[in-house]
Amino acid sequence: MVDYVSRTKQIREAILSGGDPLMLNIEVLEWFLHSLKSIPHVEAIRIGSRIPVVLPMRINQDLCDMLKKYRPLSLWFLTQFNHPREVTPDAAEACELLLGAGIPVMNQSVLLKGVNDSYEVMRDFLYCLQRISVKPYYLFQCEPVKGVDHFRVDIWKGMEIMEKLWRNISGLCLPRYVFDLPGGRGKMPLQPFSFL
Ligand SMILES: *Cc1c(COP(=O)(O)O)cnc(C)c1O
Repeated sequence: MVDYVSRTKQIREAILSGGDPLMLNIEVLEWFLHSLKSIPHVEAIRIGSRIPVVLPMRINQDLCDMLKKYRPLSLWFLTQFNHPREVTPDAAEACELLLGAGIPVMNQSVLLKGVNDSYEVMRDFLYCLQRISVKPYYLFQCEPVKGVDHFRVDIWKGMEIMEKLWRNISGLCLPRYVFDLPGGRGKMPLQPFSFL
């Protein structure tokens, strides 16, 4: 993978993501960061991980001291909270450690039926993220994946929630609501109406 990235000059940004890169031991993870950092055309690296939410004690000072060495290149941390109840004191502390190491922490969540598909829950949730200095980045429309149909929310309902959020809460708390198109065709923005 590193060899491919180094041969492919168009790649400006590399994402270490799922599985979960923080399930790697610290040496292997550092090997990836070090290798990518040594490639001149790679100007930014992201780590995508749900570990701050599900295993917050994994984010310790040793890990942050290691990550910190790669930050000036531009290292970003993308995590996934989906509900206010996931924003526990332990999770908040994990994010605080990353932020303290100078690594911006952003959130990508999924709109889930019966979990966060109401204006009130979403508003409280986004405020919870702002309180711990985690920037809401994307809100994903749940993909049509086998076995998760019962979590899918109607796009129009999602847009209605976004519209109300847009009108009522701080812009700093607003994620972009998107549908990740199948087949690598990118993300389609699901924008609330602007001219009503
Ligand atoms: C979303 C996504 C990215 C990152 O897209 P940004 O809009 O820059 O956050 C990269 N690769 C894949 C496959 C993605 O789905």
